Amino acid sequence: MGTQSADTPRLSSVDLELRHIDKSFGDVEVLRDLSLNVDKGELCCLLGPSGCGKTTALNVINGLIEPDRGEVWLGGNDITHLSPQRRNLGMVFQSYALFPHLNVYDNVAYGLRRRRWSRSRIQPKVKQYLDLVRLGGYEERRVHELSGGQQQRIALARALVIEPTLLLLDEPLSNLDARLRADMRDEIRRIQRMLDVTTIYVTHDQEEAISIADRIMVMNQGVIEQVGSPREIYERPATRFVADFIGQVNFLTGVISSGWLWLMGRQFSLPTGEGPEGKVICAIRPERLRVEESGSGLLQAQVEEVTYFGSVVRYRLAVKEVVDTDVILNVEVAGPLASHQLGDRVGLGFELEDLHIFPGGNT
Ligand code: ATP
Repeated sequence: MGTQSADTPRLSSVDLELRHIDKSFGDVEVLRDLSLNVDKGELCCLLGPSGCGKTTALNVINGLIEPDRGEVWLGGNDITHLSPQRRNLGMVFQSYALFPHLNVYDNVAYGLRRRRWSRSRIQPKVKQYLDLVRLGGYEERRVHELSGGQQQRIALARALVIEPTLLLLDEPLSNLDARLRADMRDEIRRIQRMLDVTTIYVTHDQEEAISIADRIMVMNQGVIEQVGSPREIYERPATRFVADFIGQVNFLTGVISSGWLWLMGRQFSLPTGEGPEGKVICAIRPERLRVEESGSGLLQAQVEEVTYFGSVVRYRLAVKEVVDTDVILNVEVAGPLASHQLGDRVGLGFELEDLHIFPGGNT
């Protein structure tokens, strides 16, 4: 597993560290021995399905929840028992959480007033951060006069104006429509890079995580299953859960015995010592399968479904002659093999190195 251990030697650039965190609510164990490191200036996504413990982990970091065991370190200091107010963190929530009775200026100025800054110091700071989120000139607007995207920009300005040690974003784009989500995602990335602020970004949306993160931490049932760059997570999933949760995947049942993999009625020689023995699950991405003209492929298959997605065509193929298996694969629309029709017989091929092999039973 790619999970970082809190016991490994620390690099000097580590900014945030969770060490062996446990947290239960009653009988429900929500976080189990959770350890993670985030480097200075890094944007890390905590990604996982609903209920896996992402928000609980975030609340342990921001101090709203005290862990049953373990430590939280920030900038070389143990902050496990520090109150939320003294952690100097910027938070952005899914629901924006702006103060509805205050105008834009007062919303952004709020954190600085609490720190007892003078009016003359606050004014240029608020202007600077409103300009940063491209909402200079909106100072007098009331919150209800802003669109969802504008409200989220103000929430971001409010979180950043205090120049936080750490920025925490909890599903910040979930309330926005698809187009705005993409724009706002780019905006968050631009600002985060410009300010070089260490950031934890919580999401259940794998596409969002892949497109915004320096590193992704994939959580499942209170533990981290894999830590890696978006590319590593997608191209080299460490567990079956990760392969399934990130992107589309075909799962095929096979058997490994004495260095041979039996899959879809064929036999493949494995590099020495590779893969577990016995029943296995092989995962392969739709774009790593290829269709070839009928007859020339590794396996014979029939086109059962064709879906057009603009840049790619997705085929669902039945590989029924040898084993009753369906696979999906993606073909570039601009390529020569995108014109197959329902019922066409095609060849199906793949490279052994594109299979991810996990121990296991049925798909
Ligand atoms: P979502 O994406 O749906 O917000 P999540 O991954 O953020 O999910 P958490 O909110 O951390 O998950 O919740 C993890 C588990 O802990 C859930 O089963 C939830 O019901 C439970 N839980 C969270 N907070 C409490 C609480 N205060 N009391 C009891 N159970 C809780």
